[in-house]
Amino acid sequence: MSSTSYEVRGNVAVITLANPPVNGLSYELRCGVVAGIDRAASDAAIKAVVLIGNDRAFSGGADIREFGSRLAFAEPNLPTLIDIIERSTKPVIAAIAGACMGGGFELALGCHFRLAKPDAKIALPEVKLGLIPGAGGTQRAPRILGVETALNLMAKGDPVPAVAFKGTVLIDEYVDGDLLPAAIAFAEKVVAEGRPLRRVSEMKIDYPNHEAFLQFARNMIKGIAGPFPAPAKCVDAVAAALTKPFAEGMKVEREIFVSLMGSPESRALRHLFAADRAASKIPDVPEDTPTRTIAKVGVIGAGTMGGGIAMNFLNAGVAVIMLEMKQDALDRGMATIRKNYESTLKKGKLTQEKFDTRMGLLAGTMSYDDLKDCDLIIEAVFEEIGVKEAVFKKLDEVAKPGAILASNTSTLDLNTIANFTQRPQDVVGMHFFSPANVMKLLEVVRGSATAKDVLATVMAIAKKIRKNAVVSGVCDGFIGNRMVLHYVRMAVALVDEGATPAQVDRALEKFGMIMGPFRMSDLAGNDIGWHIRKRHYIERPDISYSKLADRLCEAGRFGQKTGKGWYAYPPGARKPEPDPEVEAMIVAWRAEQGITPRKISNDEIVERCVYALVNEGARLLDEGIAARASDIDMVYLTGYGFPMHRGGPMLYADEVGLYNVARRMREFAIASGDNFWEPAPLIARLAADGKSLT
Ligand code: NAD
Repeated sequence: MSSTSYEVRGNVAVITLANPPVNGLSYELRCGVVAGIDRAASDAAIKAVVLIGNDRAFSGGADIREFGSRLAFAEPNLPTLIDIIERSTKPVIAAIAGACMGGGFELALGCHFRLAKPDAKIALPEVKLGLIPGAGGTQRAPRILGVETALNLMAKGDPVPAVAFKGTVLIDEYVDGDLLPAAIAFAEKVVAEGRPLRRVSEMKIDYPNHEAFLQFARNMIKGIAGPFPAPAKCVDAVAAALTKPFAEGMKVEREIFVSLMGSPESRALRHLFAADRAASKIPDVPEDTPTRTIAKVGVIGAGTMGGGIAMNFLNAGVAVIMLEMKQDALDRGMATIRKNYESTLKKGKLTQEKFDTRMGLLAGTMSYDDLKDCDLIIEAVFEEIGVKEAVFKKLDEVAKPGAILASNTSTLDLNTIANFTQRPQDVVGMHFFSPANVMKLLEVVRGSATAKDVLATVMAIAKKIRKNAVVSGVCDGFIGNRMVLHYVRMAVALVDEGATPAQVDRALEKFGMIMGPFRMSDLAGNDIGWHIRKRHYIERPDISYSKLADRLCEAGRFGQKTGKGWYAYPPGARKPEPDPEVEAMIVAWRAEQGITPRKISNDEIVERCVYALVNEGARLLDEGIAARASDIDMVYLTGYGFPMHRGGPMLYADEVGLYNVARRMREFAIASGDNFWEPAPLIARLAADGKSLT
């Protein structure tokens, strides 16, 4: 099917954009519009042109299927197309409904008149990919919207309903009813009146004292843009619109656009965008795999995780029943959920109506019989295999055929759990992160028997509860925790060698991690790592741990929950304070081990900790536990506070260059004698071939 159509209504030509799902501005679509404009120009009977999409989208902007391909910029490219439209001597009217974003909005700005549904969504979201509008948006938007409104639109990148632009000349008429007849009627009116064409590029910007405004805008943006350069570049582009003729402003826009395209920050955001889309695709599970209906969810265990998990579904309008063994535990769990919602209600972030709906969808029970009609049952009981066994055997007895049985286990073998039932094909891991109602990451753990439609269903429900789902194979720690173990292990080794916990945290926080490894461990509870290490001392003698962390745990320093961990947390204070007691423990530990402390640079701290993630991540890829490097990056960006502007550990390694990363790893191997540092086969191979992970 062609991506545009052309039809004649009286003396008006209608060009309809038809490139599902959002009328992305593909090469074929661009050619189609140019052909339509040319046809209208050469037909004396045609007096005006209407450009229209459908109810869902006028146009959502560039066609992402062309990203990275030659077609994305092939002529007629978007600036050329917009130029052709604007120079048309017959009036061109954009009729806008639904999404009108990015290149789509720039296309509309090339038209001489615009009609819109009040709720049409207008946006220049390029900053979200680390870019600025690149088809005249930065030059035309200030001319027609005014400098402040235009800058707001492009520096924030958020969609704004068309009606919000009332008072500007952007929209000539708002249309509540049918858009096409209204657009044709408007076109006829323009023709009848002989209304002069309004070419936005020819509009003058009158903004006295713009220097002061630009300075103010630069200061504002500096405060909110963090490490991203694009928002400040929007100001530079708008400054060009204010001070230069249109054609020169366009050149400035182009130069900025091209330079941002090559910036690591934009590469990181584009990587994240693509990673997000890729993560929902499972290589051997076709996209049209039928999914099971999930109308009611059971949650076993109303503790820390169970309560948070339940809230995700309640928020999405799905009924939940929580099961506990004892009445007081059930009451506590239910009360916690209520308290959480009440506090959101008090803050005015939840309406009473929504509060009532959500609480109305929640039920509690102590009887497995009440789970009979659940479509999905998620277990979040104590992390003990015996307890899990009892729960899954019971579930196997009571759950209806076809119900999905999920475990939130962090460390136990999902295949073992699946085999407690007679239906391992219906068992899957749903590994939420704490707090489960807040954290975006969901690791979907695929057991060796997990059915494809179970995976497809869980991925779909993850989207419904607004999680970033990433599929992981079964292994100790899955993707995230298996990697983080080595990251924390390196952090402790660095302290052994001479760094302080605060220095390690500062170095990694400066790199951009939301929280350094010691603050993170104190928050999560140092006893969790201790528990895992004790198991590893037996099962995994190949992993070499410093016992310094055990010393802390032996002294009861479990972190925030006990008021002391790697730092001290005096009552009432959540801010960590370096603790002389810990310093003394470190000094004593080094002396016992015969370690002479050395000065360690911040660069070494970042390299050792981040490359530890990279090496273990590459092993996960080698083993097929993770399907793609970008899945690993998604896990780190959404679950572990890895800095967005670096795009995740795997993209970061590519940015440094795998050759350089592998060399450093070999240096660490020699210096530490830790065989972990032998580069993973995948890294060695790619580095030797000059290739990258992502
Ligand atoms: P928790 O101790 O806060 O809650 C466990 C709840 O399960 C308790 O309320 C307990 O009464 C209940 N329970 C125990 N046995 C039961 C049974 N047989 N039937 C019904 N209820 C039972 O623990 P949690 O932190 O919520 O962890 C639960 C699971 O989630 C564990 O498998 C854990 O590994 C996993 N997990 C925890 C975290 C975390 O950060 N806490 C993160 C990811 C996954």
